[in-house]
Amino acid sequence: MHTIKSLGVVFFMLFMSVSAAAQADTFCNKAELEVIPFSHAVRSDLSARKITEEQLKGAYNFGSGGLGLGMVITQQDIRIFVDKDEATGCRVFHVKAGFAPATLYVANELLESLCAYRHIYNHEMEHIQIYQRFVAQLAAPMQQAIDAELASSQEPSTKVLGEKLYEVAGEVASRVRAQHNALDSDDTYARNERVCRGILMNIGKGA
Ligand SMILES: [Zn+2]
Repeated sequence: MHTIKSLGVVFFMLFMSVSAAAQADTFCNKAELEVIPFSHAVRSDLSARKITEEQLKGAYNFGSGGLGLGMVITQQDIRIFVDKDEATGCRVFHVKAGFAPATLYVANELLESLCAYRHIYNHEMEHIQIYQRFVAQLAAPMQQAIDAELASSQEPSTKVLGEKLYEVAGEVASRVRAQHNALDSDDTYARNERVCRGILMNIGKGA
């Protein structure tokens, strides 16, 4: 199972205005894109019931609708910070894009069975790998959007740039969402019934 808590853009504007004279003479904009490597921590201190509750709070909710034995929670994170390169007088758009550190949850009931724990942990790790591939796909279209925005205006707007990057991330995310859904297939849930002598089903029923 799998949850993205929310999708949002965070802007950090720390731009000191360049003097009017300097602006009139030179319009110089540069950009630096940094794609944040996907990172995650593992927690197994919540019960299946608590995990299910947390999952239902998510903006995007995948899975069977049954009791959640594991999940990954993260948040998309795009930041734009603008400053001035003193040496050249250029305005520099620093863009950071990716996800906030994720948390991989495995229900604490599964700590009693190494087989069950491993089964769910491995499944959630597949979700993590989907995110890692997503992050790897972000750089090229983001760089393209940044270049286009900087080329379109002498005074690019941070807000407009942020909206474009958010759009790019959304397009990539819709393709990635299909991969998460495919992973949480009926086959996956059917397999859960058979592994580890049915222990997952007993926990899933709240037994
Ligand atoms: Zn899943």
